[in-house]
Amino acid sequence: MTEITLNVGAGQKEKSALLDLSLEELTEVVAGLGEPAYRARQIWEWVYKHFAVSFDEMANLPKTLRQELAAGWVISPLQSATRILSQDGDTQKVLFRLADGQTIETVLMLYDKRRTLCISSQAGCAMGCTFCATAQGGLARNLSAGEIVAQVLHFARYLANSAAEPPMNLERPTSVTNVVLMGMGEPMHNYRNVWSALRRLTDADAFGLGARHITLSTVGLIPMIERMADEGLQIALAVSLHAPNDALRSSLVPINSRYPVDDLLAAVQRYSAKTHRRVTFEYALMQGINDSPALAEELAGKLSPLLCHVNVIPLNPIPDSPFQPTSDADTARFVEILRSRGVAATVRLRRGIEINAGCGQLRQAAQRMAA
Ligand code: SAH
Repeated sequence: MTEITLNVGAGQKEKSALLDLSLEELTEVVAGLGEPAYRARQIWEWVYKHFAVSFDEMANLPKTLRQELAAGWVISPLQSATRILSQDGDTQKVLFRLADGQTIETVLMLYDKRRTLCISSQAGCAMGCTFCATAQGGLARNLSAGEIVAQVLHFARYLANSAAEPPMNLERPTSVTNVVLMGMGEPMHNYRNVWSALRRLTDADAFGLGARHITLSTVGLIPMIERMADEGLQIALAVSLHAPNDALRSSLVPINSRYPVDDLLAAVQRYSAKTHRRVTFEYALMQGINDSPALAEELAGKLSPLLCHVNVIPLNPIPDSPFQPTSDADTARFVEILRSRGVAATVRLRRGIEINAGCGQLRQAAQRMAA
């Protein structure tokens, strides 16, 4: 494990971040500086297609405009960061500092052909899931659309720059191929900013990633699942289930008392019927808690009518937590029961375990060290 301090955008505290603007807003800013609208498009392209981090890079802009922009604006709202690289070099985690001192985490995972980025949607989280490191600190605040998009652009630039150090063991991929909203926070609890970020990430004139390559993971806020079904973007939906019945799920995922299991599954069914999309259920296996054959049977019974897939996640153990991961043998048994009942299930590869790459873990470690 290697730890490196990066200077993403040091010294930018008082300036506004350009990434917090829509193209329309940027056009207004540019007009205010006496420049035509096409200048805004040029800047937009520098930021979203070339991942520029300074106005100096924007070679086709007049020098005076670059200077005026630099006097009032920074590009990214993300500030200095700590990067931690796993021993094999294929997982890295960055802890970003925001303008108000909040911290968020982003994790890059290199697979054979994919480069998956796990991004945060909030600083902290209000959902209180009992096995999750992010939940322990509560919610600090929502991230802006710019703070969400900036995480992706940071890594897009990193991957595009073949001279970036340190070298990865795998053949160096050059772009972000997949984005999952599985970092800190509940994306459906910051709906407006998350969707504004998703539009920019998928818009062909902005970052231009295919919507099918993006997964939004939710604890199961039913009204927002209904809303997502009407968005008309093919973003994949994942629902963190972790238990097949209310008694157990409410003890792990407190929001379940507001949105119980059967109502949630009915909402997912309506979502699939409307969008014709297969939904993923996440199920973190915890030894002696939610991993028995009887619970696997109960889960299979409830999920078999749905167009879905179960992603079984080995629990990332977190400090001061009674929950332990299920053994490999019991995990295999659980998955086998689901499959034998006709429910598609896979075990998610465990990544970055030694760099605390699980949800909220690096931030928590940093807070502990600062305390
Ligand atoms: N709030 C969203 C997304 C953030 S967490 C959600 O609940 O889906 C992404 C996934 O990691 C969720 O399925 C979450 O339940 C799971 N998770 C949280 N803590 C974990 C841990 N310690 N080990 C394994 N998975 C965990």
